[in-house]
Amino acid sequence: MAKATQKDRVGANQAFVTLAAAFAILFSIAFTLLAFDQHRVLQSAEQLQEITVPEIIRYQRLARNIEQLRQEGEHVFSASKDEERQQALFIVMLVASHPSILENESAAIAAREAEAMLTDASRLADRDPVLFKVRYAEWQQHSRRLGLLVDDLTVQGAGRVAEDLAQMSVVMHLSRYKLVGTLALVGIFLVLSMWLLRRHLVRPLQRIDQTLSSLNVNEHSPVFPETQLNEIYAIEQATVRLHRLLQENEASRRDLEQQATLDSLTGLMNRRHFMAKAEAELRRAERYGHPVAIALGDLDHFKHLNDTYGHAAGDIVLRAFAALLTESVRESDLVCRYGGEEFVLLFPESTTEQARVLMERFRHRFSEFDVALPDGLLLRVTLSIGIADASHGPLENALQRADDALYEAKWQGRNRVVVAIE
Ligand code: GH3
Ligand code: MG
Ligand code: MG
Repeated sequence: MAKATQKDRVGANQAFVTLAAAFAILFSIAFTLLAFDQHRVLQSAEQLQEITVPEIIRYQRLARNIEQLRQEGEHVFSASKDEERQQALFIVMLVASHPSILENESAAIAAREAEAMLTDASRLADRDPVLFKVRYAEWQQHSRRLGLLVDDLTVQGAGRVAEDLAQMSVVMHLSRYKLVGTLALVGIFLVLSMWLLRRHLVRPLQRIDQTLSSLNVNEHSPVFPETQLNEIYAIEQATVRLHRLLQENEASRRDLEQQATLDSLTGLMNRRHFMAKAEAELRRAERYGHPVAIALGDLDHFKHLNDTYGHAAGDIVLRAFAALLTESVRESDLVCRYGGEEFVLLFPESTTEQARVLMERFRHRFSEFDVALPDGLLLRVTLSIGIADASHGPLENALQRADDALYEAKWQGRNRVVVAIE
């Protein structure tokens, strides 16, 4: 995968604003669509209430009036007295001129026909019973037509309601789909946002947290996977810089520690460090009543060696001597360059005799050791050693007695070990 450059990454704020803007646009569209549907449902409901319902009532009234007209028409033929007939005819005329009938064309025509038919029949009732019967047969046919008209009007009224309700139902169905769609979109958007948030913010922060809590100067610089947010990238880079600084700091601390405790030419403990460690060792030995011995070594005729082969050759001899001495003693023994070509050793848990045996073996080994110079010349150097018991009294006293023994070794002819007499 290609590395993301500074250009590819975005600021957390910019990413957040983009996400919020996308969310706002999505919601605006969804709410506009839903509001539009709600408006259409309300419109349909208003139409039902203000137009359709009054119209149905009109249809019902019209149907009732026509039904009444039909029943009164029956009375005109069935009335036993003329007075009753006239009364029925009067109601027929009243109903036929009712506004609900006049405003419906087919009802008005049917009513006028019925009125004319019944007026004519009422005149014949007493005069011509035969023709009256004929008229009654005609009326029955007309009455059936009126009955059909009533059915028609009832169906028409119900049809209007059904039409409006069907229209409303379509709008509400559509609106439901849109609502479900909107909720699904919002759900998808939220899941996507959570995923983005986790991937680009939460996980990187967890990784940085883990890295910081386990930052180790002895390990490699922390490596982070590709990140898309500037701020996360900046924190990761700061973590890497912090690790580098800690490593540099640790390195210089080790350097300083070495400089403070070790001799730079031989790598042995320096005098100051030795004195501190030896004091502690002597205190411990005294507390437990354990033996401890000290030895002071000095290379023989070293000035002459320097004068003959040069100071650099002297340095090579000092380094070779230190290396051989270190590998000849125990791990627990303290070995120190005391100064110039003098060395001091402290042997914990050792008597002067044990130290003498060890130093004697080393003296012999060194005296037969060839130190190779860069020009191929091989040198042999000897050393004199003075040993003293250090289990009692201060370190300075023990050092003084070892020095006296060393002086004695020099005096006796060098290349030997002398133990101080207690
Ligand atoms: P002796 O046998 O009596 O000890 O004789 P010596 O010549 O070894 O003793 P002396 O004290 O007269 O000389 C010590 C010499 O060690 C003098 C000095 O130049 C040399 N020396 C001290 N430190 C160093 C060093 O770091 N490098 C080198 N090359 N020589 C050193
Ligand atoms: Mg010396
Ligand atoms: Mg010397």
